Parts: sequence; C-alpha cells; structure tokens
Amino acid sequence: MRLNSNRRGFLATASALAAVVLSPYKLFSSNHKASGVIPSVKGFGSTGNPYDELGVTTVINCEGTMTTLGGSLPHPELEAVMTMAGRHFVSITELEVAAGNRIAEMLKLPEGYTALVTSGAAAAIQSGLAGILTGGNEAFIRQLPDLTGMKSEVIIQKSHRNPFDHQLRTTGVKLVEVETIEELHAAVNDRTAMMHFSNFANAAGQIKVDEWVRLAKQYNLPCMNDAAADTPPVSHLWDYTNMGYDLVTFSGGKAIRGPQCAGLLIGRKELVANALLNNSPHEDTIGRSQKVGKEEILGMVKALELFLSEDHDALAREWQGRLELISSEITRVASVNTSFFVPDIANHVPHMRITWDESRISLTAEEAAKLLRGSKPSIAISRGEGEPGLAMNSFMLQPGEDKIVAAQLSKLFREHAA
Ligand SMILES: *Cc1c(COP(=O)(O)O)cnc(C)c1O
Repeated sequence: MRLNSNRRGFLATASALAAVVLSPYKLFSSNHKASGVIPSVKGFGSTGNPYDELGVTTVINCEGTMTTLGGSLPHPELEAVMTMAGRHFVSITELEVAAGNRIAEMLKLPEGYTALVTSGAAAAIQSGLAGILTGGNEAFIRQLPDLTGMKSEVIIQKSHRNPFDHQLRTTGVKLVEVETIEELHAAVNDRTAMMHFSNFANAAGQIKVDEWVRLAKQYNLPCMNDAAADTPPVSHLWDYTNMGYDLVTFSGGKAIRGPQCAGLLIGRKELVANALLNNSPHEDTIGRSQKVGKEEILGMVKALELFLSEDHDALAREWQGRLELISSEITRVASVNTSFFVPDIANHVPHMRITWDESRISLTAEEAAKLLRGSKPSIAISRGEGEPGLAMNSFMLQPGEDKIVAAQLSKLFREHAA
C-alpha cells in the first residue's frame, strides 16, 4: 500500500502532528472560554476557539451523541490520522476497498463480508438499498430513483418506521408495513427487494431481530439492520452479521467517536460493492451527494481500532461515576431526586433521571432544560422523554464538566426553591 512505502516519514509526521494536534485539543477540553492562543494559526481560529470567533456558543453535552450537537468528539490520535490523510492523493475507490477489507479483518467479520465507509449510517442505508436494487447494472444505477425494470418494495414492521426510513424511500421504493408473520407472508411478492429492520425498535415489533433475518432467508430476500446508534456494546459490530444479516449500518460519529461525517455499511461483498457503485465518487448516481473523503475513510479505520482497544467496562464505570458525582451534589437540594438507568439498546450507557417536587422547586422540566441551555456555560440536557423530570448521560462530557453541571444544576434548583 502506498501509505506504507513512506512509513518512516509518516511516523515523523505523526509525532510532529501530535504536538500540533494535542495542544488545541487540550484547549478545547476546557472549551467555554478560549483561554490560549495557538501560535501556528493566524486569523480565524487563532483564539483556539473558532466557534467563539463566529459568535456560536459551545455547549456542555449531557444529551449524548446527538448529530444536532455535533455527534461526538474525536480522539487526538484520530485527528492526527485524518490530518495525515490530507497529505496525499489516492484513488478513492481503491482506498474504500482496502479500508473495507481492513475493517472486516479488525471486526473478524464472517467469510464473504466486508465494509464500506459511508458519510453516515443514513448514507449506508440508502447506498445499501440502492445496490440491492441496481446490482451492477449501469443503466439502473443512472436511472434511480426511477425503478422501471427493478424491484420496488421494501418490507418493514410498522413499529420500525422512523425518520431514517426516508433514506430507503429516496431510492423510489414503496415501504410495505407489516405487524405479524402472517402479514409478512402475505406482503412478500415478486416486487420485494429487501426486508428492513430498525435495531432500536426490536422490543416494539412483534417479530424480533433474529426471527426477522430467519424469515428473510426463508424468502431468499436480502435483509438490512439499521444499528446506527447501537454500540456499545462493541459486539454489536459483528453480532448481526453473525446472525445472518446481509447488510448492517452504523454511525461513525456517534459512540464509536469516528469522523462526524462517517458511517459504516457492513455486509456481503457483492452487496457492498454494488453499494459503492451507487455512491460517491461515482458520478450520475443517487449517492453522489454523500461524498466520503480520504480523511473520513482513514479516520474510520483508526476510530474502530481505538474503539476496539478501549476498556469499555472501565469507561462505563467512569461515566457512572460522573453521574454519581452530579447526583450527590444536586440531591442536597431539598426534594431533588435521582435514579439511574441504562437503555437496553441505542445509547446503551449509564443515564440519570433527575426529578423534583414542583411545589417546592417552582420549575417545570421544560423550563429547567431551557434555562440550562441559555445559561453560561450552556448545558444541553434532555427532557425526560415521556417520563417526568430531566434525563442525562455523561459519556460526551469533557474532563471537569461533571463538576460544572453539578454546580449549575444545584444553583438553578436553589434559585427556584420555595
Ligand atoms: C443516528 C441514526 C441514523 C443516522 O446516522 P448518521 O450516521 O447520522 O447518518 C440512522 N438510524 C438511526 C436509528 C440513528 O440513530
């Protein structure tokens, strides 16, 4: 591989980069006030916080890996590799295939499977389905979303419908909703292209994740599982291919902490190859708008390497510890209570619910969330999602931010105490 032929140069570059890359990262971790100057940057960015320079407020993130807040923050090592990526030209398709093979190796995917770095899980959904519809037929690839001559239906459980099935519909297919096995049986026909599963909705649907793929095999239909936000646990990266799913999608920029504009399509080699034909850099394709750069492709390989080598139990303990620190502080305010939970699937990390007696602290959860977001520093924290109070997690907090959150919450509750 071309990158290796200059390996020593790269190592030297790496250590040089580490110096440049690490220092701004440190500045960023105490990000509310740009407190230093990075000598290597003049003009825009010279304060160390270009967000501030634009007048855009940075937030302390208690919500988790939300795309609307910027997803996640990269490891400095990942930033270093992405910077290295920007120093050479390569064939993007050659790089995609090589990166996919490396990822398949790292994840110990079953024989016959590989991976494709996409611009996100949403792009993986669209490209994966597009590849199933068109195969390697160039005319079909140019023709999408006009499905003349192709299959045109995707079966999905009614409870699995969600905003990301827009990326299925962009290919022109019709979604056929089913609830029971009988309805599924009746829905399968010559036009059926694929069966789709939304992993986070496993509990909501009558047909569970393992049965869905078993049924797809019976009908000889390709089967996709959207598991975008469903790591940790790490094993989800291979559990669903081991179960027999033909295509599985993940976000790169959520808990994997890869490049923000990256995701993974993991699946059978032929399907993944056809997905790539429907994606950037190939022109006159439905996926040309989902460009993936060399930086994201290499970044995704590095992010997975880092993610796989992390001590996930230790991380979970650290995240729980941050919540307990906040809890011990805020429950000193009369009537404030906390409880802990871990969602079964999707954002499977320690969470804390915060409730209070509104007759003693005159503040609704909605008002509390709004005031915190407007406070200095700004804190993004969720409403209870159907439950009373506020809900938060701590896995996207930067060092020291747990203490700031504890202090801000206590102050807010005390200010509104009767
Ligand atoms: C976040 C998410 C996506 C989209 O992932 P991106 O990587 O942001 O494109 C798709 N499906 C589900 C269930 C998600 O949570």
